[in-house]
Amino acid sequence: MKAVRFHEFGGPEVLRYEDVPDPQLRKDQVLVRVKACAMNHLDLWVRKGLPGVKLPHIPGSDVAGEIAEVGEYVSGFAVGQRVLVAPMSFCGHCEKCVAGLENQCSEFTVLGNAVDGGDCERIAVTPEKVIPIPASLDFVQAASVPLVFLTAWHMLVSLAKIQPGQTVLVLGANSGVGIAGIQIAKLWQTTVIATAGDDRKIEKARELGADHVIHHYQQKISEEVRQLTGKQGVDVVMEHVGAATWEESMRSLKPAGTLVTCGATTGPQASLDLRFLYARQLKIFGSYMGTMGELHAVLKHVFGGRLKPVVDRTFPFEETRAAHEYLEKSRMFGKVVLLP
Ligand SMILES: [Zn+2]
Repeated sequence: MKAVRFHEFGGPEVLRYEDVPDPQLRKDQVLVRVKACAMNHLDLWVRKGLPGVKLPHIPGSDVAGEIAEVGEYVSGFAVGQRVLVAPMSFCGHCEKCVAGLENQCSEFTVLGNAVDGGDCERIAVTPEKVIPIPASLDFVQAASVPLVFLTAWHMLVSLAKIQPGQTVLVLGANSGVGIAGIQIAKLWQTTVIATAGDDRKIEKARELGADHVIHHYQQKISEEVRQLTGKQGVDVVMEHVGAATWEESMRSLKPAGTLVTCGATTGPQASLDLRFLYARQLKIFGSYMGTMGELHAVLKHVFGGRLKPVVDRTFPFEETRAAHEYLEKSRMFGKVVLLP
């Protein structure tokens, strides 16, 4: 089959679209014919080189497609069924996995990170990771959902435990996680303050439901938050930007507020004044993906139309290099999806 693959770490130029061995379907697996695979910022980190990534490597975390073949030991699925694939890999039998805490499994990784991903024509996966999709979602929309909606759900609902009436600050409204975060926070009837970097993104963030949008290049986030909240600050900050916004995020919290972070797009080093942390009784959560139970929970809202995937544009697999360059420039509002 054909796949997007790289044999060395580096810039977008290391990406190739080439022949690779067909996946060998085990009797306990389902073979999915990939119809769409959405990109995430993780694709760029993996391509640049992360520990645990073996070469050559196929990136891609968010797969939607059709079942091509069902292994002998698997029941409950049919050839031709439209599905998405949970964007994760875990052992399935350790203490954490059987407790439904898959993202704490010692073997946990994101699909396309420490294991080959979905930028290919077919992928073999175990059946607990295969989730049927409704006719209301096309493959491109379905592929654009799992990783970011799961991540945002785990951050806001499971860790920060958002409540109706609270105020939530969502950084980077144009990113996949930001788009999911704004919608989930609105579903919980909170007031949402988002940040975005240009007028077009600000307008789109408002369309998604953000009550207020801060221009993060022209305005100081914490000052705007202070003004918008009557000097109170926000209950929850959803962070994934990292070094560039960390200090502003911390300053935006009200006493006993919660900051939850899942990324460091602009750099991983940030400083923390411990006096500020304890005197203001702040809480900081680190978040990585989520559990299978949370994925099913958030997908119910997507399938029910209460949370909506936002697709920026598609590229064919042959043009994955251009897609990586596009994502790196942060021009998108919503998901960039690759097509076989
Ligand atoms: Zn496990």
